Amino acid sequence: MELPADYHVHTYLCKHADGDPEDYLAAATARGLPEICFTDHAPAPCGYDPKHRMMIDQVPTYHNILAGLPRDGACKVRVGIEADYYPDCEQFLRPWLESQPFDLVMGSVHYIQGWGFDNPDNLPVWETVDVEQTWRRYFELVGRLAQSRLFDMVAHLDLPKKFGHRPRHAALVDAAKRALDQVAAAGMGIELNTSGLRRKVAEIYPAQAILELARARDIPICFGSDAHQPEEVGHAFDKAVRLARAAGYTACARFVKRRLSLVPLDG
Ligand code: ZN
Ligand code: FE
Ligand code: FE
Ligand code: ZN
Repeated sequence: MELPADYHVHTYLCKHADGDPEDYLAAATARGLPEICFTDHAPAPCGYDPKHRMMIDQVPTYHNILAGLPRDGACKVRVGIEADYYPDCEQFLRPWLESQPFDLVMGSVHYIQGWGFDNPDNLPVWETVDVEQTWRRYFELVGRLAQSRLFDMVAHLDLPKKFGHRPRHAALVDAAKRALDQVAAAGMGIELNTSGLRRKVAEIYPAQAILELARARDIPICFGSDAHQPEEVGHAFDKAVRLARAAGYTACARFVKRRLSLVPLDG
């Protein structure tokens, strides 16, 4: 089986990933991946979550490190970014993203009203909130992320399931549908992110039911390991391709300079 590109890997600049970008590329090449796109956590000069991202003055270093990677191997190198959507992010992000030569911009929601709901340190907060309302708020933010037109793909679409907190299926579908309508209207895609397999939930983001809703709306997909260690690159991509196929997908998205084209899924 020929595996798809890994469009979601990090670098040490975000302060919580290890290894050299060269090791990530070597791992991708060893796994036979056709392409790897670095999408490290974007800076947020307003002071939003500074512990988990590069600083604005490290952006030139980010570009320099990635520009220094060997380009003559079998695995192509792309340069992207994972940028958080949060209320008021646009003031910085819109001009900044326009100024950057990225191949891909992943949009993520990691916070609901100042609560980093996927951070294990904040796990106790889940005991104090209404799970269904949390999911509704999360998908509202994903909808706004899409409406902003700042991003190319939505990362890890059902991230609130990370620690196993789930709403009723009907409520999940209802909230997800609204968000996916906005994602489709924005011409964006969604990521199949295998990092969930390495968490308590032990599932790919998003679940097959949500992926089928995306397929019904013709929303393109890409694949991401969300590697924070070199050995996680391309993790369980065979499983992810099977999930995509089960949901009816026959192609995945490829990005160069933020322009999408479709590549047939192999295997
Ligand atoms: Zn991270
Ligand atoms: Fe993320
Ligand atoms: Fe990530
Ligand atoms: Zn991520």
